[in-house]
Amino acid sequence: MRYADAHADTFYRITLEQLDPFQREGGLHVNLPRTRDVGQVLQVCSVFTPARYSGKGAEDFARRIIATLDHWAHQRPDAFLRVRNRADLARLGGGALGLIPWLEGASPLRGELSLLDEFFALGVRGIGLVHNHANEVADGCGVAEPRKGLSEFGRGLIARMEALGMAVDCAHLPQPAFNDVMAAVTRPPCISHVGARGLVDIVRNADDAMLRAVAERGGFVGIDFYPGHVLAGAFEPGVREATVADVADHLLHAIKVCGLGQVGLGGDFDGFNDACEDLRHVGDMPNLERELASRGLPDSAIEKLFSANLLRYLGEVLP
Ligand SMILES: [Zn+2]
Repeated sequence: MRYADAHADTFYRITLEQLDPFQREGGLHVNLPRTRDVGQVLQVCSVFTPARYSGKGAEDFARRIIATLDHWAHQRPDAFLRVRNRADLARLGGGALGLIPWLEGASPLRGELSLLDEFFALGVRGIGLVHNHANEVADGCGVAEPRKGLSEFGRGLIARMEALGMAVDCAHLPQPAFNDVMAAVTRPPCISHVGARGLVDIVRNADDAMLRAVAERGGFVGIDFYPGHVLAGAFEPGVREATVADVADHLLHAIKVCGLGQVGLGGDFDGFNDACEDLRHVGDMPNLERELASRGLPDSAIEKLFSANLLRYLGEVLP
């Protein structure tokens, strides 16, 4: 089964911890031996800037992650393929893993649209407008009582992103800013990595109205594999471990709300330590595939969830 994933923090970890993406047991959830095992063709690479970086510090840290990605892609063109446009998408599946850098939180832009153009030139093709903390675009979902909607800068940012051919990613975006973004977009938006609030009622997950709003605009919803998002009370004493069955529940819920064509995977691998017990790293994807088959999904439907829907979405958004 071909696999394309909408969110992993792999290059953030490689940058900070000097990990080697060619080592199977080198500590990364996503590494080349395992992506080859499971037929992974594309990884959207989070360029995540923690809240401790702000202003120029956030910009510099984001540039460091992209430089790390560039370094590996340059050293090993046999293994990595930078995906910048639709023509590059058509080249996927030839043996090299496609990589797309994608800001997680717009703080590296420091409220300046000119920096958006610079990051676009570096190959960034999507932006998660916020992370958990507040930035120049909006409050994140970790802010206790987010009041602000989308800022004026955020509105200008979305318009410029759409003109360039970048994905507007609403992961981590609470109300009311989410609704403001839906009112502002003219091209398909996405939620790259999220769980369904209809199953696990936390502010980080998307409720049915949010899922529907993205689907109605032709967008994409990537379900993630973080136990805290897919199993109520995960990590609390006495609560069982999360499994692929929980991830499958969220996928099936999202399909029910959005339709089969708008849902896929944004696992958030390398973004957490405690994984689902049978989805410990990307090499475990066949466990999820088997679980979905056992729920009655035909191969053609699993293919859409595992790769085709994300590739279709990026094909509509990228330049
Ligand atoms: Zn995230």
